[in-house]
Amino acid sequence: MRIEDALQRAHEAAAPEVGRGRPAEYIPGLASVDPHQFGMAVASCDGTVHVTGDADVRFSVQSISKVFTLALVIAAEGEQIWRRVSREPSGNPFNSLLQLDQEAGRPRNPFINAGALVVTDRLQSLTGDASGALRDLMRRESGRSDVDSDADVARSELEAGHRTLAVAHLLASYGNLELPVDEVIDQYVAQCALSMSCRELALAGLFLARDGVLSDGTPLLSPRETKRVNAVMLTCGTYDSAGEFAYRVGLPAKSGVGGGILAVIPDRGVACVWSPALGPSGSSAAGLAALDAFTTYSDWTVF
Ligand code: GLU
Repeated sequence: MRIEDALQRAHEAAAPEVGRGRPAEYIPGLASVDPHQFGMAVASCDGTVHVTGDADVRFSVQSISKVFTLALVIAAEGEQIWRRVSREPSGNPFNSLLQLDQEAGRPRNPFINAGALVVTDRLQSLTGDASGALRDLMRRESGRSDVDSDADVARSELEAGHRTLAVAHLLASYGNLELPVDEVIDQYVAQCALSMSCRELALAGLFLARDGVLSDGTPLLSPRETKRVNAVMLTCGTYDSAGEFAYRVGLPAKSGVGGGILAVIPDRGVACVWSPALGPSGSSAAGLAALDAFTTYSDWTVF
C-alpha cells in the first residue's frame, strides 16, 4: 500500500482512541494541552514527508529527546557511556528509583530518567551546553531555525520535579554524576521541554534510518552505532510496555509523556505520531493505535 494510504488508515484506526486517557499531569505545563489533537508524519530516507492531522502543531518532545542526546554522546566519544549505563529493559516505571538502588547507581538503560540523566551529565561535560547542542542538531535536521525549548514547560517540570531530583541525588551518591545535580537537572528539563512538530521530529530522526548519516551527508554515527541505538530503542524505548509495543508495532521507537512517539524503519524512514492523551503505560494511546495500523498496512517493518 502507498505511504499516503497507509497513513490515512493509521489516522482512521487512531480516531476512536484520540482523547482517551489523560495528558501527563505531573508536569503542570503539559496538563493543559488539548487531548483531542492527533498528528502523524512519515519521512522517507530521501527527505520526502507525508502527513495527516495536526502534524505541524508543536508539542513537548519530553523523553523522545533522550534518543538524540544518547546519539550526540556516542558521536562525541564512541560507546564509553555504557560503562555508566546498562542497556536492559527495566520493567519498572520510567521514573523509578528501585533498580537504580539495587544496581549500585548504574541505571538500567539510557531511556529511563536515571539513565537519561547520566547521558545528559556526560553531554554537558563534553559540550558545556547539552540542551543547546541538542537544540542545534534538531534545528539543522528539521530545517527549522526557530525550534526551541519551551521555558514554561521546563520551569513547571523543575517546580514539580521532586522525583527527578531524588533520582539525580541517588546517582550522585553513587558517584555516577560528574557535574552538580542542579546543573544536570537544568539541562535535562530544558532538553525535555524542546517543542517540535511531528514533521520536524520525523526529519530530525532520519539519520537513525540512514545508517547514521545526517541531512548534509555527513555521518553523526557509524552504521554499527546506529544499529545499536535502534536496538536499545526497540527493547527500552516505550517505558515498561516495550514488549507490548514490539508485539503491536515491531519497530524501534521512543515515546514521551508529551504524547509523541518516534519510530524508525531502517533504510526506509521515520514515523512520528502525536496525540496527548496517554494510555496506562505512559505512551500515547492513539499514537500506539496509529503505528500498529501503519505497520500493518504499509510494508514498513523490521520483521
Ligand atoms: N521530563 C519527563 C520526566 O523526566 C520525561 C518523561 C518522559 O517523557 O518519559 O519525567
